[in-house]
Amino acid sequence: MNIAIVKDEIFLKHNPGEYHPERPERLAKIYERLSQPDVAEYVKVLRPREATFEELCWNHTPEYIKTIQQTAGQNHIQLDPDTATSPESYEAAIKAVGAQFVGLEAIFKGEVQDVFALVRPPGHHAERDRAMGFCLFNNVALAAHYALNRLGAQRVLIVDWDLHHGNGTQWSFYNRKDVLYFSTHQFPYYPGTGRAEEVGEGEGLGYTVNVPLPAGCGDLEYATVFKKVLLPVARAYKPDVILVSAGFDIYFGDPLGGMQVTPVGVAYLARLVKKLARECCHGRLLLTLEGGYSLQGLCDCVAAVVLELAGRSIIPSDKLEEFEETARPLEILNKIRMLHEKFWPEVSS
Ligand SMILES: [Zn+2]
Repeated sequence: MNIAIVKDEIFLKHNPGEYHPERPERLAKIYERLSQPDVAEYVKVLRPREATFEELCWNHTPEYIKTIQQTAGQNHIQLDPDTATSPESYEAAIKAVGAQFVGLEAIFKGEVQDVFALVRPPGHHAERDRAMGFCLFNNVALAAHYALNRLGAQRVLIVDWDLHHGNGTQWSFYNRKDVLYFSTHQFPYYPGTGRAEEVGEGEGLGYTVNVPLPAGCGDLEYATVFKKVLLPVARAYKPDVILVSAGFDIYFGDPLGGMQVTPVGVAYLARLVKKLARECCHGRLLLTLEGGYSLQGLCDCVAAVVLELAGRSIIPSDKLEEFEETARPLEILNKIRMLHEKFWPEVSS
Protein backbone atom coordinates (compact mmCIF):
# COMPACT_ATOMS: atom_id res chain seq x y z
CA MET A 1 0.00 0.00 0.00
CA ASN A 2 1.31 3.41 -0.98
CA ILE A 3 -1.00 5.54 1.08
CA ALA A 4 -1.43 5.84 4.81
CA ILE A 5 -3.63 7.89 7.08
CA VAL A 6 -2.70 8.97 10.58
CA LYS A 7 -5.66 8.66 12.94
CA ASP A 8 -6.34 8.43 16.66
CA GLU A 9 -9.29 8.62 19.03
CA ILE A 10 -7.61 11.49 20.90
CA PHE A 11 -8.44 13.79 17.98
CA LEU A 12 -12.14 13.25 18.72
CA LYS A 13 -11.68 14.46 22.29
CA HIS A 14 -10.72 18.05 21.58
CA ASN A 15 -14.00 19.88 22.08
CA PRO A 16 -14.13 23.67 21.64
CA GLY A 17 -17.72 23.80 22.90
CA GLU A 18 -21.29 23.02 22.00
CA TYR A 19 -22.46 24.42 18.64
CA HIS A 20 -18.86 25.08 17.58
CA PRO A 21 -18.48 24.30 13.85
CA GLU A 22 -15.07 22.69 14.41
CA ARG A 23 -16.62 19.76 16.26
CA PRO A 24 -15.49 16.18 16.94
CA GLU A 25 -18.17 14.78 14.59
CA ARG A 26 -16.20 16.16 11.65
CA LEU A 27 -13.46 13.66 12.15
CA ALA A 28 -15.68 10.86 13.48
CA LYS A 29 -17.55 10.95 10.16
CA ILE A 30 -14.34 10.90 8.16
CA TYR A 31 -12.99 7.91 10.11
CA GLU A 32 -16.29 6.12 9.60
CA ARG A 33 -16.24 6.81 5.86
CA LEU A 34 -12.63 5.64 5.48
CA SER A 35 -13.34 2.41 7.33
CA GLN A 36 -15.71 1.33 4.55
CA PRO A 37 -14.21 -1.38 2.35
CA ASP A 38 -14.14 0.63 -0.91
CA VAL A 39 -11.50 2.89 0.65
CA ALA A 40 -10.12 0.90 3.59
CA GLU A 41 -8.51 -1.75 1.41
CA TYR A 42 -6.09 0.83 -0.02
CA VAL A 43 -5.13 2.52 3.21
CA LYS A 44 -2.57 1.73 5.85
CA VAL A 45 -3.20 3.22 9.32
CA LEU A 46 -0.47 4.96 11.34
CA ARG A 47 -0.68 6.17 14.93
CA PRO A 48 0.63 9.57 16.03
CA ARG A 49 3.19 10.31 18.71
CA GLU A 50 3.41 13.36 20.94
CA ALA A 51 5.50 16.27 19.69
CA THR A 52 8.07 17.37 22.27
CA PHE A 53 8.38 20.82 23.81
CA GLU A 54 11.63 21.34 21.90
CA GLU A 55 9.95 20.46 18.59
CA LEU A 56 7.04 22.83 19.25
CA CYS A 57 9.62 25.59 19.88
CA TRP A 58 10.61 25.41 16.20
CA ASN A 59 7.45 27.38 15.47
CA HIS A 60 6.04 28.71 18.75
CA THR A 61 7.33 30.68 21.72
CA PRO A 62 7.96 28.73 24.95
CA GLU A 63 5.51 31.04 26.77
CA TYR A 64 2.75 30.27 24.31
CA ILE A 65 3.39 26.52 24.45
CA LYS A 66 3.15 26.67 28.24
CA THR A 67 -0.15 28.54 28.00
CA ILE A 68 -1.60 25.68 25.96
CA GLN A 69 0.03 23.09 28.22
CA GLN A 70 -1.76 24.63 31.19
CA THR A 71 -5.15 24.01 29.61
CA ALA A 72 -4.61 20.26 30.08
CA GLY A 73 -7.23 18.84 32.44
CA GLN A 74 -9.10 22.18 32.56
CA ASN A 75 -12.67 22.61 31.47
CA HIS A 76 -13.46 25.17 28.81
CA ILE A 77 -10.70 27.78 28.33
CA GLN A 78 -11.39 30.50 25.75
CA LEU A 79 -8.18 31.51 23.94
CA ASP A 80 -9.59 33.86 21.32
CA PRO A 81 -13.15 34.62 20.18
CA ASP A 82 -13.21 31.46 17.99
CA THR A 83 -10.78 29.19 19.76
CA ALA A 84 -11.24 27.24 22.99
CA THR A 85 -9.93 24.12 24.70
CA SER A 86 -11.33 21.21 26.69
CA PRO A 87 -9.44 18.91 29.14
CA GLU A 88 -7.86 16.78 26.39
CA SER A 89 -7.17 19.50 23.82
CA TYR A 90 -3.50 19.81 24.70
CA GLU A 91 -2.88 16.10 24.21
CA ALA A 92 -4.81 16.19 20.93
CA ALA A 93 -2.84 19.24 19.79
CA ILE A 94 0.62 17.79 20.47
CA LYS A 95 -0.42 14.53 18.81
CA ALA A 96 -1.80 16.43 15.81
CA VAL A 97 1.72 17.81 15.41
CA GLY A 98 3.31 14.41 16.13
CA ALA A 99 1.07 12.90 13.44
CA GLN A 100 2.93 15.05 10.92
CA PHE A 101 6.27 13.73 12.10
CA VAL A 102 5.18 10.09 12.02
CA GLY A 103 3.80 10.64 8.52
CA LEU A 104 6.99 12.30 7.28
CA GLU A 105 9.17 9.54 8.78
CA ALA A 106 7.14 6.90 6.92
CA ILE A 107 7.40 8.89 3.70
CA PHE A 108 11.13 9.56 3.92
CA LYS A 109 11.87 5.93 4.83
CA GLY A 110 9.99 4.96 1.68
CA GLU A 111 7.41 2.91 3.57
CA VAL A 112 4.60 4.84 1.88
CA GLN A 113 4.42 7.65 -0.68
CA ASP A 114 1.43 9.60 0.51
CA VAL A 115 0.19 10.22 4.01
CA PHE A 116 -2.99 12.01 5.02
CA ALA A 117 -2.88 13.18 8.65
CA LEU A 118 -6.53 13.26 9.73
CA VAL A 119 -6.24 15.34 12.85
CA ARG A 120 -7.91 17.99 14.99
CA PRO A 121 -7.39 20.72 16.07
CA PRO A 122 -6.41 22.24 12.72
CA GLY A 123 -3.31 24.44 12.46
CA HIS A 124 -2.83 26.98 9.69
CA HIS A 125 -4.15 30.04 11.57
CA ALA A 126 -1.99 29.40 14.65
CA GLU A 127 0.61 32.13 15.03
CA ARG A 128 3.97 31.90 16.78
CA ASP A 129 2.58 33.17 20.06
CA ARG A 130 -1.20 33.04 19.61
CA ALA A 131 -4.08 30.61 19.12
CA MET A 132 -6.46 31.70 16.41
CA GLY A 133 -9.26 30.52 14.15
CA PHE A 134 -9.83 27.11 15.81
CA CYS A 135 -6.06 26.39 15.69
CA LEU A 136 -3.65 25.74 18.60
CA PHE A 137 -0.32 24.62 17.13
CA ASN A 138 0.56 25.08 13.48
CA ASN A 139 0.65 21.46 12.31
CA VAL A 140 1.77 22.07 8.74
CA ALA A 141 4.41 24.66 9.68
CA LEU A 142 5.86 22.24 12.22
CA ALA A 143 5.85 19.53 9.56
CA ALA A 144 7.96 21.82 7.37
CA HIS A 145 10.39 22.44 10.24
CA TYR A 146 10.63 18.69 10.83
CA ALA A 147 11.43 17.99 7.18
CA LEU A 148 14.15 20.66 7.24
CA ASN A 149 15.59 19.95 10.70
CA ARG A 150 15.33 16.20 10.94
CA LEU A 151 15.02 14.73 7.46
CA GLY A 152 17.56 16.71 5.48
CA ALA A 153 15.07 18.43 3.18
CA GLN A 154 16.44 21.64 1.61
CA ARG A 155 13.20 22.98 0.16
CA VAL A 156 9.64 22.41 1.32
CA LEU A 157 6.53 23.38 -0.65
CA ILE A 158 3.32 24.05 1.27
CA VAL A 159 0.11 24.08 -0.76
CA ASP A 160 -2.81 25.52 1.22
CA TRP A 161 -6.15 24.99 -0.52
CA ASP A 162 -8.27 25.61 2.58
CA LEU A 163 -10.98 28.24 2.02
CA HIS A 164 -9.17 30.58 4.40
CA HIS A 165 -5.73 32.11 4.17
CA GLY A 166 -3.17 30.37 6.40
CA ASN A 167 -1.85 33.47 8.11
CA GLY A 168 0.09 31.51 10.73
CA THR A 169 1.91 29.43 8.13
CA GLN A 170 2.66 32.45 5.95
CA TRP A 171 4.25 34.45 8.79
CA SER A 172 6.26 31.43 9.96
CA PHE A 173 8.25 31.43 6.73
CA TYR A 174 7.71 34.93 5.33
CA ASN A 175 11.41 35.80 5.20
CA ARG A 176 12.72 32.35 4.28
CA LYS A 177 13.28 30.69 0.96
CA ASP A 178 13.55 27.11 2.19
CA VAL A 179 9.77 26.98 2.54
CA LEU A 180 7.55 28.14 -0.30
CA TYR A 181 4.01 28.93 0.80
CA PHE A 182 1.30 28.81 -1.89
CA SER A 183 -2.28 29.57 -0.93
CA THR A 184 -5.64 29.90 -2.66
CA HIS A 185 -8.33 31.47 -0.48
CA GLN A 186 -11.59 33.34 -0.51
CA PHE A 187 -10.85 37.06 -0.28
CA PRO A 188 -11.74 39.39 1.28
CA TYR A 189 -12.60 37.06 4.14
CA TYR A 190 -11.35 35.78 7.49
CA PRO A 191 -8.54 36.21 8.60
CA GLY A 192 -7.97 39.24 6.33
CA THR A 193 -4.42 38.41 5.24
CA GLY A 194 -3.36 36.85 1.93
CA ARG A 195 -3.42 39.74 -0.53
CA ALA A 196 -1.58 38.93 -3.75
CA GLU A 197 0.90 41.69 -2.86
CA GLU A 198 2.07 39.68 0.16
CA VAL A 199 4.97 37.96 -1.60
CA GLY A 200 7.49 37.44 1.21
CA GLU A 201 10.33 39.66 2.34
CA GLY A 202 14.13 39.67 2.56
CA GLU A 203 15.50 36.26 1.62
CA GLY A 204 11.91 35.10 1.35
CA LEU A 205 10.88 37.53 -1.43
CA GLY A 206 8.91 35.55 -4.00
CA TYR A 207 8.55 32.53 -1.74
CA THR A 208 5.04 33.40 -0.63
CA VAL A 209 2.49 33.07 -3.43
CA ASN A 210 -1.01 34.21 -2.54
CA VAL A 211 -3.91 33.74 -4.91
CA PRO A 212 -6.93 35.50 -3.38
CA LEU A 213 -10.16 34.48 -5.09
CA PRO A 214 -13.66 35.95 -5.12
CA ALA A 215 -16.49 33.89 -3.61
CA GLY A 216 -18.20 31.59 -6.08
CA CYS A 217 -15.15 29.91 -7.59
CA GLY A 218 -15.59 26.24 -8.45
CA ASP A 219 -13.69 23.27 -9.85
CA LEU A 220 -12.56 24.96 -13.07
CA GLU A 221 -11.34 28.14 -11.39
CA TYR A 222 -9.29 26.17 -8.87
CA ALA A 223 -7.97 23.86 -11.60
CA THR A 224 -6.96 26.90 -13.65
CA VAL A 225 -5.05 28.52 -10.77
CA PHE A 226 -3.27 25.28 -9.91
CA LYS A 227 -2.26 24.69 -13.54
CA LYS A 228 -1.28 28.28 -14.35
CA VAL A 229 0.42 29.28 -11.10
CA LEU A 230 1.20 26.37 -8.79
CA LEU A 231 2.59 23.94 -11.36
CA PRO A 232 5.12 26.30 -13.02
CA VAL A 233 6.29 27.81 -9.72
CA ALA A 234 6.64 24.42 -8.03
CA ARG A 235 8.50 22.91 -10.98
CA ALA A 236 11.00 25.77 -10.86
CA TYR A 237 11.32 25.55 -7.07
CA LYS A 238 11.96 21.78 -7.04
CA PRO A 239 10.83 20.94 -3.50
CA ASP A 240 12.09 17.88 -1.61
CA VAL A 241 8.64 17.26 -0.15
CA ILE A 242 5.15 18.68 -0.65
CA LEU A 243 2.86 19.44 2.29
CA VAL A 244 -0.81 20.22 1.77
CA SER A 245 -3.04 22.17 4.15
CA ALA A 246 -6.13 20.32 2.99
CA GLY A 247 -9.23 22.19 4.05
CA PHE A 248 -12.57 21.20 2.63
CA ASP A 249 -14.46 24.38 3.43
CA ILE A 250 -14.09 25.07 -0.32
CA TYR A 251 -16.84 22.43 -0.78
CA PHE A 252 -19.99 23.88 -2.39
CA GLY A 253 -22.18 22.97 0.58
CA ASP A 254 -19.92 24.30 3.31
CA PRO A 255 -21.77 26.42 5.88
CA LEU A 256 -18.83 28.81 6.42
CA GLY A 257 -17.54 29.11 2.88
CA GLY A 258 -18.66 30.70 -0.37
CA MET A 259 -16.85 28.48 -2.87
CA GLN A 260 -18.38 25.90 -5.21
CA VAL A 261 -15.83 23.10 -5.37
CA THR A 262 -17.12 19.51 -5.70
CA PRO A 263 -15.45 16.28 -4.55
CA VAL A 264 -14.49 15.65 -8.19
CA GLY A 265 -12.77 19.05 -8.25
CA VAL A 266 -10.95 18.28 -5.02
CA ALA A 267 -9.81 14.96 -6.50
CA TYR A 268 -8.35 16.89 -9.43
CA LEU A 269 -6.38 19.19 -7.10
CA ALA A 270 -5.02 16.09 -5.37
CA ARG A 271 -4.14 14.67 -8.77
CA LEU A 272 -2.13 17.78 -9.64
CA VAL A 273 -0.17 17.88 -6.38
CA LYS A 274 0.50 14.15 -6.69
CA LYS A 275 1.79 14.68 -10.20
CA LEU A 276 4.06 17.45 -8.93
CA ALA A 277 5.34 15.27 -6.09
CA ARG A 278 6.18 12.49 -8.56
CA GLU A 279 8.02 14.91 -10.83
CA CYS A 280 9.91 16.80 -8.12
CA CYS A 281 10.41 14.69 -5.04
CA HIS A 282 9.95 10.94 -5.47
CA GLY A 283 6.23 11.31 -4.85
CA ARG A 284 6.71 12.54 -1.27
CA LEU A 285 3.37 14.04 -0.24
CA LEU A 286 1.88 14.75 3.19
CA LEU A 287 -1.64 16.12 3.46
CA THR A 288 -3.09 17.47 6.68
CA LEU A 289 -6.71 18.15 7.47
CA GLU A 290 -7.51 21.81 8.12
CA GLY A 291 -11.08 23.15 7.87
CA GLY A 292 -14.32 21.87 6.34
CA TYR A 293 -17.61 22.13 8.19
CA SER A 294 -20.10 20.15 6.12
CA LEU A 295 -20.00 16.56 7.37
CA GLN A 296 -21.09 15.28 3.97
CA GLY A 297 -18.49 17.45 2.26
CA LEU A 298 -15.72 16.20 4.52
CA CYS A 299 -16.59 12.53 3.93
CA ASP A 300 -16.94 12.89 0.18
CA CYS A 301 -13.87 15.08 -0.28
CA VAL A 302 -11.50 13.09 1.94
CA ALA A 303 -12.61 9.84 0.29
CA ALA A 304 -12.13 11.45 -3.14
CA VAL A 305 -8.58 12.49 -2.26
CA VAL A 306 -7.65 9.10 -0.80
CA LEU A 307 -9.08 7.24 -3.80
CA GLU A 308 -7.28 9.60 -6.18
CA LEU A 309 -3.95 8.94 -4.47
CA ALA A 310 -4.66 5.21 -4.43
CA GLY A 311 -5.08 5.29 -8.20
CA ARG A 312 -8.87 4.76 -8.06
CA SER A 313 -9.90 8.18 -9.32
CA ILE A 314 -13.54 9.22 -9.03
CA ILE A 315 -13.06 11.79 -11.82
CA PRO A 316 -15.19 10.82 -14.85
CA SER A 317 -13.16 10.87 -18.08
CA ASP A 318 -15.18 13.68 -19.68
CA LYS A 319 -14.62 15.81 -16.56
CA LEU A 320 -10.92 15.04 -16.61
CA GLU A 321 -10.74 16.18 -20.21
CA GLU A 322 -12.57 19.37 -19.31
CA PHE A 323 -10.20 20.07 -16.39
CA GLU A 324 -7.16 19.44 -18.59
CA GLU A 325 -8.32 21.56 -21.50
CA THR A 326 -10.23 24.43 -19.93
CA ALA A 327 -8.69 27.55 -18.47
CA ARG A 328 -10.95 30.12 -16.89
CA PRO A 329 -10.02 33.74 -17.65
CA LEU A 330 -9.45 34.89 -14.09
CA GLU A 331 -8.58 38.51 -13.48
CA ILE A 332 -6.29 37.58 -10.60
CA LEU A 333 -3.95 35.66 -12.92
CA ASN A 334 -2.68 38.84 -14.59
CA LYS A 335 -1.98 40.36 -11.22
CA ILE A 336 -0.10 37.26 -10.04
CA ARG A 337 1.94 37.30 -13.24
CA MET A 338 2.77 40.95 -12.78
CA LEU A 339 3.76 40.53 -9.13
CA HIS A 340 5.68 37.30 -9.52
CA GLU A 341 7.29 37.32 -12.97
CA LYS A 342 10.53 38.73 -11.56
CA PHE A 343 10.70 35.79 -9.16
CA TRP A 344 9.07 33.14 -11.30
CA PRO A 345 9.36 33.96 -15.02
CA GLU A 346 7.77 30.54 -15.65
CA VAL A 347 4.40 31.96 -14.59
CA SER A 348 4.40 34.25 -17.67
CA SER A 349 4.44 31.41 -20.16
ZN1 LIG B 1 -10.70 27.14 6.63
